[in-house]
This record gives sequence, C-alpha cells and structure tokens, in this order.
Amino acid sequence: MCGHNHSHQANTQHDFHQSTGTHADLAYPQPQTAARPCPKCSTPVQEDFVFCPNCGTELVMACPECHRAVEAKWTHCAFCGAELVAA
Ligand SMILES: [Zn+2]
Ligand SMILES: [Zn+2]
Repeated sequence: MCGHNHSHQANTQHDFHQSTGTHADLAYPQPQTAARPCPKCSTPVQEDFVFCPNCGTELVMACPECHRAVEAKWTHCAFCGAELVAA
C-alpha cells in the first residue's frame, strides 16, 4: 500500500492564506474636490459637476465650446478661451 494523502492538507492551508491577504490594501478612490449641496435638492455634488445628478439642476455654467464647467464671473473659458456670454 502506498497512499499519497499528504497533499490535501497543504492545499487548504495555502488557499486560506491567499483569500485573506488581498482585501486589506484596497484603496478606495476619494474625490479630490469637496462636495457642495445642490441649491435645489441639497444633494451633495462635486464642485466640478455641471448638473445635479439627482434633480438635473444646472449647477455651474458650461462652456458652449468645450462644455467644461466655468465660473459665472469668467468672461472667457479658462480651458479653451471661448468668450462666455451671460444668458
Ligand atoms: Zn439637485
Ligand atoms: Zn471652453
């Protein structure tokens, strides 16, 4: 008789070690810009959001050329230089 039954124990120990070691250092991406409340529904929205994802309110002006968020006080887009006209 020649039984090879020592491999089972080694296999289960190795498996257990692997499944516990990989979850600890999963870094969740944090938003860099501070959230601010939507003026209409108070949902926290990121500062660079153009529309509220909850109610669809336009939060900031968007450049008509490149459609990036621009500030209302700007006269020209800081990203593409397009002239901004107040509606
Ligand atoms: Zn809203
Ligand atoms: Zn632009």
